[in-house]
Amino acid sequence: MKIGCPKEIKPQEFRVGMTPNAAQEAVANGHEVIIETKAGIGSGFDDAAYVAAGARIVDTAEEVFATADMIVKVKEPQAVERKMLREDQVLFTYLHLAPDPEQTKDLLASGCTAIAYETVTDDRGGLPLLAPMSEVAGRLAPQVGAWTLQKANGGRGVLMGGVPGVGPAKVVVIGGGVVGTHAARIAAGMGADVTVLDRSLPRLRYLDDAFRGQFKNQYSTAGATAELIQDADMVIGAVLIPGAAAPKLISRAQLGTMKPGAVLVDVAIDQGGCFETSRPTTHADPIYDVDGIMHYCVANMPGAVARTSTIALGNATMPFMLALANKGWRQACQDDPHLLAGLNVHAGQLTYVEVGKALGIDV
Ligand code: NAD
Repeated sequence: MKIGCPKEIKPQEFRVGMTPNAAQEAVANGHEVIIETKAGIGSGFDDAAYVAAGARIVDTAEEVFATADMIVKVKEPQAVERKMLREDQVLFTYLHLAPDPEQTKDLLASGCTAIAYETVTDDRGGLPLLAPMSEVAGRLAPQVGAWTLQKANGGRGVLMGGVPGVGPAKVVVIGGGVVGTHAARIAAGMGADVTVLDRSLPRLRYLDDAFRGQFKNQYSTAGATAELIQDADMVIGAVLIPGAAAPKLISRAQLGTMKPGAVLVDVAIDQGGCFETSRPTTHADPIYDVDGIMHYCVANMPGAVARTSTIALGNATMPFMLALANKGWRQACQDDPHLLAGLNVHAGQLTYVEVGKALGIDV
């Protein structure tokens, strides 16, 4: 099969769909890999690395789309890319179709077979192609929060780990899923005093078993949150209610109960944010102040560490990419119900029920 990987063109997107290692695996499996020139530059992979892996470099996205049987990307195809998709082509990338009728219309019109990273499942009820980005965002949250806590950035001027004779920062993580657990581990590793709140008792039991001594946990109620935030230097919002907007767990009025210069990092901003005063920000202008409380609300946090994110995503997508290439999409999806769960569009038909419901299209 011919596997094509164009350079991402969405603004501020530095990741790439295939690493040189993934290209090398595909070539070793007998496939031809076609990479658009400079596709990997934002993640620190130059054309020479792909050539060494056995891939062929082409000058334009048009050549990639015209030649490839399967396109592997990161972000949903942009309008100009969607025009190049063909009936006999497989598209494997993040799609997020539910809030995007324009993209859905174009994918249906193209006749292509589109498999979305975000709806591929695993045996434990997880989303294995979303998890790596939650891991990245979670581990990044205390790092950006610690920077925001610095005085020159508007923060309280508190060091995460304290020093001998001075106590550490107090960090509250709301939501103990993938993001929250990774955030808590890193914050604790920096020496902070960390408490995780969650509404799932099984999850709290797991956190207690796995991380007792590293960080504390508490059942999430409005009362527990109100009490903990009064004393917190940093609050990390990491909740998710699948398929719903994030619940607002800290109101504007409550900011007045917090210490001046405390920091809110709202990782859940891509689901609307879990603090009333959150609004999406960018890497270019990531923080702002509301009532003396600093907010960090970047909606695509993994973009800040594009190289780590590209490699983490590539590790997770590679087995699926190889199955699609080795068996063809039909057989690969027949053999693996988790990959089949990723199928969103085929031959002008929407095939994913939730997207159909969201857009009012028959599935
Ligand atoms: P997850 O499903 O693994 O974890 C969410 C956790 O929130 C669950 O354990 C759940 O029990 C808990 N929860 C739900 N309601 C709660 C409440 N009221 N109080 C306390 N806990 C509650 O999800 P995840 O992968 O950790 O993702 C968390 C959020 O981070 C999502 O909104 C996701 O979209 C977002 N995210 C953002 C970025 C970014 O760049 N900003 C990157 C990755 C993920």
